[in-house]
Amino acid sequence: MTAIQVKDNKKICSQTSTTFQLNDENYYSDQANWHFQSKSLFWNFMQCEAATLAQLKHEYQPFSNPTPLLFGNYLHSYFESKKAHERFIEANETSLYKYGKKEKGLKSDFKQAQKCIQTLEDEKRFRLLYQGQKEVIVKGNLFGVDWMGKIDCLDLKNKWFFDLKTVDDIHKKHWSKEENGYTNFAVSRGYDMQMAIYKELIKQTFGVECTPFIIAVSKQKVPDKAILSIPEWRMENRLDQIEELQPHIQRVKNGEEEPSYCGHCDYCRSHKIMNEITSIDDIELY
Ligand SMILES: [Zn+2]
Repeated sequence: MTAIQVKDNKKICSQTSTTFQLNDENYYSDQANWHFQSKSLFWNFMQCEAATLAQLKHEYQPFSNPTPLLFGNYLHSYFESKKAHERFIEANETSLYKYGKKEKGLKSDFKQAQKCIQTLEDEKRFRLLYQGQKEVIVKGNLFGVDWMGKIDCLDLKNKWFFDLKTVDDIHKKHWSKEENGYTNFAVSRGYDMQMAIYKELIKQTFGVECTPFIIAVSKQKVPDKAILSIPEWRMENRLDQIEELQPHIQRVKNGEEEPSYCGHCDYCRSHKIMNEITSIDDIELY
């Protein structure tokens, strides 16, 4: 039994990932996040180590609008199963309906989610493709660290898997500091990294090499839709990036190294002290 040591020497965990049983109930728990690395956690560390560590240690809770998450879950649970969707609606009735009452009808955000669902439902190709096992938990080891993932739709027979993504506008451009130019929503949100990780974890869990596809649907008045593939070189680059950044991120997570401050997120701004003068020519641009 080992413990994960954090900065204030508080022992957060008392089990190793070999004794911790990852399942549907604890997948999104703190315990799972201490035992396993995941795309969202790693991605957050890449954006700001200090804010992510503080969040993991319950020292900081960023303000986040719950609607986009509910929107995503509304859609995901629908395509998972009828039962999952009913359970989701029942558990979130007060947030989904006007005045929290079913008889008053869905709030406009979720009417839109319903529209996105219908858009995909009307696509014969989508219905034929999206046939695998839903919400499959996968585990594996990437460069010496245990990772976890959850696959929206895994089809081992056809050797492919799908991830459903909702997006404001599939064709909107996003500034990328890394690429010093504009990029698309998928690269901007690190979905190429997510697909590279999932592909590897599926291989380690089931011994099958699968091809990833993103099913994107937009939240526009008339929803757009697309089946997107991910170039192999992008996934290779993302795995290289994980190999390069992971040792430090892991040491930060374990309290062995100090986290860096990105300097511009909510957490960093709230901890900033006005103790230096900056020339207007040196204002950092993001
Ligand atoms: Zn920050």
